[in-house]
Amino acid sequence: MTAVHVPGTPIIEDGRLVSTSPATGAEAGRLPVATAEDVARAVDRARAAGEWWAGLGFTGRRERLLRWRGVIARRIEELAELVHTEGGKPVGDAVVEILTALEHIDWAARNARRVLGPRRVRSRLILAEFTGHLEYQPYGVVGVIGPWNYPVFTPIGSAAYALAAGNAVVFKPSEYTPAVGQWLVDRFAEVVPEQPVFTAVHGLGDVGAALCRSGVAKVAFTGSTATAKKVMAACAESLTPVLLEAGGKDAMIVDADADLDAAAEACVWGALTNAGQTCIGIERVYAVDQVFDAFVDKVVARAGRLTVGPDGADLGPITMPSQLDVIRRHIDDAVGRGGRAVLGGPDAVQPPYVHPTVLVDVPEDSTAVREETFGPTLTVNRVRDVDEAVDRANALSYGLGGSVFGRKRAVAVARRLRSGMASVNSALTFAGMSTLPFGGVGDSGFGRIHAEDGLREFGRAKSITRRRARSLLPSMTFERTPADVARLVKVAKLMYGRNR
Ligand code: NDP
Repeated sequence: MTAVHVPGTPIIEDGRLVSTSPATGAEAGRLPVATAEDVARAVDRARAAGEWWAGLGFTGRRERLLRWRGVIARRIEELAELVHTEGGKPVGDAVVEILTALEHIDWAARNARRVLGPRRVRSRLILAEFTGHLEYQPYGVVGVIGPWNYPVFTPIGSAAYALAAGNAVVFKPSEYTPAVGQWLVDRFAEVVPEQPVFTAVHGLGDVGAALCRSGVAKVAFTGSTATAKKVMAACAESLTPVLLEAGGKDAMIVDADADLDAAAEACVWGALTNAGQTCIGIERVYAVDQVFDAFVDKVVARAGRLTVGPDGADLGPITMPSQLDVIRRHIDDAVGRGGRAVLGGPDAVQPPYVHPTVLVDVPEDSTAVREETFGPTLTVNRVRDVDEAVDRANALSYGLGGSVFGRKRAVAVARRLRSGMASVNSALTFAGMSTLPFGGVGDSGFGRIHAEDGLREFGRAKSITRRRARSLLPSMTFERTPADVARLVKVAKLMYGRNR
């Protein structure tokens, strides 16, 4: 008896990874599966390519990265269609994702020299006879491991910055979205045909594990917290540094002075875009008592209007069929423990789709509140005030993003969220702002992609001092005399002995 193939589940056939549409089962891509030896070879080739790429300098790389951006932008409809077919995401959402990725390529290319390039650093009075020189040198080969939910935005958030910094990149796309990953790499090869600077290796999780052990100089991982721990453990064997962008359970706080229509609109988008399969998706809302009922009504009205289906609908299918069970369990747990479904509910799970589900008064210890659901579901709980909202929002080990709606206190509340990012009076917007770093705390990982911090993740600080003149007060030499030491004591007391 042959096993029935569940649409969307990748399979391996004759040494090829076959990805299929989760909506229709139509084949989306067929890519060769890499062995551990293939991965090692790809990294070796990338090492040589990386030296060539680094040798191009910031100007040469900027010119090529902008050409890559140009090719992707001109073929945006084609890529959006592929993202839609392979992962199920509505084409409109795919366009937004690609647009955001283009902005990141653009910013990384244009700003790499300013952020990472050689510069003089001023000395202080001590060591005044020296000048400092600082630059951020590329690591060599960076391994990028990416998830399926934003198969353009997430790998580019690491790869574009790593490339701009002068590294070669070997990329392992998710087994659910290998064709999108290969498309990005192929477009890069069109504008950089000389050397394999940016390449992909395909396969299941073992290929990602092989990449961690392949001798890459750094690994940038985006995916679940559980896999992040495995990646870090594998990288620990060779002290390979890691950047981990892991899962989240982001909260939105709605204060008494919030614009409730705007809050409901952003909440519905933040929770349900990409059918809720968003690391920074809003999964929990804490609304203060005075506005709770009105806010819930507005959310339900908006979410209830959304369409669900294969083509042209607001919400597409759940990309990873196995996630359907998780979503179902979370809804069942919430309702079983006394939560109320004011929209959707247990019947909302209709594989491969899940209809928008809004759960209220859900116990804080239920899985729907504590664990990443990764579906178009939302819990909305009533709180006394924003202090209670912040306490509840911060009660989990995740800490990726968050959102606050309100006027007077909103920014102060956003700063108190235990998260790497927050949006005030919007949702998810920090992801598209290339001038702001992106990353989490706690179980959501560490390190930052995007912006200046994101560029610095992919360069090693190289510090050089250079003597300009003879030392008036010799200290780092055996030639110093007891009188010099006595003068050093005086200097220490004079310069640092005060309390201010
Ligand atoms: P996974 O952790 O399952 O997979 C991520 C990547 O790691 C995939 O390419 C996967 O390959 C690979 N992988 C699997 N096992 C190993 C291993 N042992 N060693 C090395 N690599 C391995 O995550 P998903 O793809 O399911 O993505 C969803 C998760 O990603 C969610 O938790 C979401 O929150 C998070 N995410 C975080 C973001 C952030 O920026 N913080 C952004 C987007 C998503 P394969 O697919 O072949 O198994």
